[in-house]
Amino acid sequence: MTWSDKDETFIWHPFSPLKGVESPLVIERAEGIYLYTEDGRKIIDAVSSWWVNLHGHSNKYIAEKVSRQLTELEHVIYAGFTHKPSITLAERLLKVLPENQSKIFYSDNGSTAVEVAVKLALQFWFNKGTPKKKIVAIDGAYHGDTFGAMSVGERSIFTKPFFSFLFNVEFIPFPTANNNEEVINQFRTTVEQNDVAAFIFEPLVQGAAGMRIYSQEVLDQLLAMSKANDVVTIADEVMTGFGRTGQLFASDHLLHKPDLICLSKGLTGGTMALGATACSNKIVNMFQSSDLERAFLHGHSYTANPLACTAANASLDLLLTDESKSSIARIADRNSIFVKKIKPFSSVKDARSVGTILAVEFSSSESSSYLSEMRNRIYPFFLERNILLRPLGNLLYVIPPYVMTNKELDLIYNAIEEFLETLNS
Ligand SMILES: *Cc1c(COP(=O)(O)O)cnc(C)c1O
Repeated sequence: MTWSDKDETFIWHPFSPLKGVESPLVIERAEGIYLYTEDGRKIIDAVSSWWVNLHGHSNKYIAEKVSRQLTELEHVIYAGFTHKPSITLAERLLKVLPENQSKIFYSDNGSTAVEVAVKLALQFWFNKGTPKKKIVAIDGAYHGDTFGAMSVGERSIFTKPFFSFLFNVEFIPFPTANNNEEVINQFRTTVEQNDVAAFIFEPLVQGAAGMRIYSQEVLDQLLAMSKANDVVTIADEVMTGFGRTGQLFASDHLLHKPDLICLSKGLTGGTMALGATACSNKIVNMFQSSDLERAFLHGHSYTANPLACTAANASLDLLLTDESKSSIARIADRNSIFVKKIKPFSSVKDARSVGTILAVEFSSSESSSYLSEMRNRIYPFFLERNILLRPLGNLLYVIPPYVMTNKELDLIYNAIEEFLETLNS
């Protein structure tokens, strides 16, 4: 049996039907922005392997730190015990996170970072003795695939079998250029009823919904109203964290800071799984008690894994260098120039970018079935050119590792232009 045959026999891949899909490519090794297949291909990872990679694959600096840690302390139970990599990381995160953040609760992925935030917000009200049930989210939201995270996310084909098991959430419209008043009014009416426990949002850009960018001013108004009406605010920065939007955190663009911030994806530079939920004093204070009933009784076996924390510390070392900061600015700059260039193309419905995130939506006069057919054309078109770009429906996005050079970016931009030309013919 080939590796592919064995894969098909033994493995169940995420977000993939068991039948009717191409066999996955077997990646033997990866370095920098390149993935090397077992049959000798060299593919540009233009999506940072699901938005996680920051400093390139198999990064030597991170690898060295993690391998040293492996022979010192690979893991230890995190209740009643602690370790230096996790303490160092928490202290460093709190130094760079918005000022109101005061403690880090570790978990092991983005969905769990969100679960922790949602549970903390609900228990905040329980501990206060005035339980509130309602959670507000934004249309199109994606917060992960566990039940709580699914519940606060958009109801879609991804969650359809579970609709009846998801708890109720009030969705406000996604803020566009034209509906700000409607969004703000609906939000105000909702929060003024005084039964809203929490408001959860992806700050400035919704990832899975199609890299949809929305206004910082509107979000700031929603946060101000949340504050005025005693609503706990949760920023899901699982995708936007660690430089993606140009600032270290998307919350850095905001005047009003969230009570809870969820982190994962770029946290370890894309090396391994780790989740963190940052908590403001307001939240922490409601749990300052020796009463077990008021404690947050939640944890995961691999909470704050020392290897993952070490990878995160090493990734932060790299991220906070001037070199990395200027790379982020350089990519952001390039993206916005490319957006300006292709926006007038007739086959482009919309092109947008924020920081290192670039999205291109295709227009077509044809029916929607044509569009879904086109989706199946996008992926192979780029893969044939050795560029990994996974479309989200009718939309193409680029989220590069920060080490991508201008030349490599141009290769991707040129391929996108080439694809746009095929749409005209
Ligand atoms: C990816 C993502 C999650 C889920 O993270 P996982 O590690 O995949 O569970 C949650 N929220 C946002 C905004 C994400 O992009």
